[in-house]
Amino acid sequence: MSTASITYDDVVAWISLVAVRLREQKAYLTDLDSAIGDADHGINMDRGFQAVVAKLPTLPADDIGGLCKGVGMTLMSTVGGASGPLYGTLFRRFGASTAGKTEIGIADLLAALDSAIEGIRGLGKAEPGDKTMLDALIPARDALGAGIDGGLAPADALASTVAAAEQGMLATIPLVARKGRASYLGERSAGHQDPGATSSHLLLKAAADTWFQA
Ligand code: ADP
Ligand code: MG
Repeated sequence: MSTASITYDDVVAWISLVAVRLREQKAYLTDLDSAIGDADHGINMDRGFQAVVAKLPTLPADDIGGLCKGVGMTLMSTVGGASGPLYGTLFRRFGASTAGKTEIGIADLLAALDSAIEGIRGLGKAEPGDKTMLDALIPARDALGAGIDGGLAPADALASTVAAAEQGMLATIPLVARKGRASYLGERSAGHQDPGATSSHLLLKAAADTWFQA
């Protein structure tokens, strides 16, 4: 653990915590998806991250980029549904952005998140307000940028990132879905929290609970 940077071990700890929390939240995420989708988001994410945990020992050591790339490839090949390729893209973009690095700083994290969002947008063609994971990730990215620009300590910048992701996640409730399965429901998708925005918040919360700890 380090207060100034995110080490390779911190990234492994983050991924491991994500897997634990996804297992805990599996039924909840699936319940959210049963309201506006096909009731598999928790199952999909849990399956993917259990496969990631099994794969961790075989992934490149001391290379955050190689590690994240391997996580992304594993998610792509094990997670069914829209979220597999989308979260696979998030981790592959993270990996490309951190290639060869043994530790990264908060500015590197912003660059990686920015690139991940562009990758997700390029693949899924969703816009902000379409009731997707992007509605948690984009406000989070913006808050991280603002926190860095405002000179916040990394832990505080990350805390404000998570707060923005949570707000964005809750703000999906009244939205009408315009992408993914939930869009088939049209107006009936309003009144339900988006499962993917919820798992994106989970990922960021796990990061904040792991990184830059004193
Ligand atoms: P599926 O919808 O194929 O069953 P999941 O249930 O695992 O896949 O994931 C659903 C989540 O994926 C949604 O809640 C939404 O956040 C996200 N999602 C779906 N389509 C898109 C898209 N085009 N762009 C971004 N996120 C999307
Ligand atoms: Mg689903």
